[in-house]
Formats: sequence, structure tokens, C-alpha cells
Amino acid sequence: MDVSPRNFYGSTLGDELFLAQGQKSKTIALATKGRGAILMGGRLAKTYWMNDDTGEMTTSTYYAKALPAWVETWNKKKLADSYFGKTWDRLLPATVYIGSDDDVASEANTKGFGKTFPHKMDGKLKEPGPAYYDVFCMTPFASDWELDFAKTAVENEQLGQRGVTDLLAISISAPDLAGHDFGPMSHEVQDIVVRTDKQIGDFLDWTYGKLGKDEVLVVVSADHGGVAIPEQMSALGFSAGRIKKAALKDAVEKAIKDKLGLEKSVLALEDPHIFLDRKKIEEKKLDLEKVEKGRGRGRCHDRRRRRLLHQKPAAQGRCAGHRAGALHLADVFRPAGRRRRAVDAALLFLGQIRRAGRGHDPRHLLPVRHRRSGAHRGRRGEAGHIRCSRDDRSGTHARALLGVARPAGAEGRVIPLGRD
Ligand SMILES: [Zn+2]
Repeated sequence: MDVSPRNFYGSTLGDELFLAQGQKSKTIALATKGRGAILMGGRLAKTYWMNDDTGEMTTSTYYAKALPAWVETWNKKKLADSYFGKTWDRLLPATVYIGSDDDVASEANTKGFGKTFPHKMDGKLKEPGPAYYDVFCMTPFASDWELDFAKTAVENEQLGQRGVTDLLAISISAPDLAGHDFGPMSHEVQDIVVRTDKQIGDFLDWTYGKLGKDEVLVVVSADHGGVAIPEQMSALGFSAGRIKKAALKDAVEKAIKDKLGLEKSVLALEDPHIFLDRKKIEEKKLDLEKVEKGRGRGRCHDRRRRRLLHQKPAAQGRCAGHRAGALHLADVFRPAGRRRRAVDAALLFLGQIRRAGRGHDPRHLLPVRHRRSGAHRGRRGEAGHIRCSRDDRSGTHARALLGVARPAGAEGRVIPLGRD
């Protein structure tokens, strides 16, 4: 598969660990999703994710010409296929789950997976195939699949057993996928949380047994948060609804057309990002900056976003009763020389708008749990719990926990973690 970290600027924790340890450190990053593994691992890691066609672990030619023999052997187990046709049911009695109803109308029914327990894991196929692997990745058993591979990686790559600090980065991806489809209040997500806790616990016990408890530094953090399904919030009387991407695109295009007479100016809208048709803008001899910039005002409670608002939204439109502004980001997120890859503008929702599936503020504070290793700094460690923004994590992990250079491109603060 030809994917790589080519568009990723900067370095990762694993990259810096490698540089700091005489190029002897190894990083293995794995996920069910390619982007999950690649961006976690960086340039120098060995990176693995699920091949959507075969349910096996794969990598790309960027990392290796061929899979290592131990990965080939592991793939022969066909672990994902061993769950085919089985059902996913609650681990605990149904009465323990919060919320009386498992059957919520607004939950998704991806690939016929159903909205209620028990879920049959077959993707409506006769034998394992892409539709099955899609639904499999939404189940807690995908985490078993990942963690089994992780153990095999530790054993075969001798991680943590070679006199240097190695990094094993695992993205437990199922809670995200199930959260997007069923919503954070669903019985499915509750069940995944219960099972993930046990899975991580079992994996750590195995790791401590293998390497010694004080030889392992564990950091647990999170992906984005999930907001309740809008229809459920709406039913409770909150102002909530879904905003259709097409309607937003129309609103932005209309604003640009009204102002500059340019038709169909938006090439792509991958919210919150807007990519303008630069070729068309050039042909019409319009100034890109003028297309991006415009008039408009918005209120925002987030300090950083309020600062960004001084850039003035490029266009404002109404959509399903909500106002949305397109924010000009040229000077903020587009350093010179990176223009071709950069986004032209970003959508800013005015009012209490949240994205379906994600909180609208990407800088939510995230809890980060770390268990500090006694081995690293000659101290006995204990579990600690810090709160930091998403941007603070890599610098804090590098400087305060590992004592290596802060990854290039890392924003945010280094949070002092204190001494035991
Ligand atoms: Zn997600």
C-alpha cells in the first residue's frame, strides 16, 4: 500500500527517541487505521495497520519492501477471520448499562451491522471480506486483534529488552469508530469502554511480566471527544441538529459569488477546512487573498479562536437555522513555502454548534495518564494524572517524561510533572 508520512511536518516522540539513543531505539506503531499508525509512528518507526481487503497486518513500501517474517507468520493466524459470523454481546448484565434503551433510532446501521445487541459480525457476507473487516473494526475484538499483534511485536523485535528505550505505540481504534456510529451514550460504547479497560489491564500485566514493572513507562491518552447524537439531544429539548456539508459548501460559494462574481469556487470542503479552486481564481485573475478574506463578525468564547476571528471570516452563510462563517487562515496556519498544501480557509460555527461525532473545539483538555518508570530516572514511579491540551502532549512526553528533544513542530507547553 503506498501511503507514507510524506505530508507530515516535524518529528514524533519515537523519531526523537531514535536520535537521542544513538539510532538504536525502535518504535513500533500500530492501529486498525493507516493514518492512526503512520502519524503516531512518524518517519523512523515500523508502522503497521489493517489491510482492509484481507484483515491482515500490513505496512507500506515507505517503511519496508516486504513484511518481516514474524508479521507474515502472525498474519497466517488470520485472527480477524476467527471472529467471522460470531456475535458481539454485552459483557455485563444489560441492567448495568446506563440508559434504558439500546435501540435508538438515530444510531447508524453501518453495513447492516444493526443498532442493537447482539451484533452479528459478518458484514452481511458469506465469508470474510472488506465489509466484514469494516464492522469488525468497530467491535472490541479489533482491540484484541491489535494487542495480540503488539505482544508478537514485543517478542520478535525484542522491544525493551535491548538496553535502550523503545517505544510501542498502539491506537485502540474501536471506541472511536463505534462512537461515531452509535454515539457516546450507546450501550455499544459503554461495552467497549468496559472491555477496553480489561484488555489494557491484561496487556499491561503481560508486559510487566515480560519486562518488569519498573522497566515500563505507560502513557495513556485520548483521541477526540465525542458529542451526543444530535437527534438524542434534540429529543431532550436541546437546540441540536445536523449540518449538511453540501449546504455549507453552497453557503460559502454563494457568499464568494455575491462578492466577487466567481461561480463554484470551492474545490473541496472537508470540514472544518475549505479548499478553493485556485486554478479558477487564477484564470479569472482574482487575488486569492481577496477571495479568502471578507467581511463578517462572529462571537467566540474560545480565546485562541477569538484571536483568529480578528482575521475576519471570509464568508457567512445560513444553514439549517445556524450561522456558519468561513474563517480566513492565510497568515495563521500557512507559513511561507507551504502554500500549496495548506488549507485556504476554515469553517467556524457560530453559536453552540458541535460537530456530529466530535466536539467543535479541537483543543479540548485531555486527561493523560502516565505511570512513571523507576528505571528511567532511577526512581520508583507511581501513577500520575495530568490535564493538558492536545498540543501539550508530545512536548511533555519528550521533555518531562523521557528527557529527549521536543519533537519538531510540537506546539504547546511542556508540563512539569514533578518528582516522586
Ligand atoms: Zn473519530
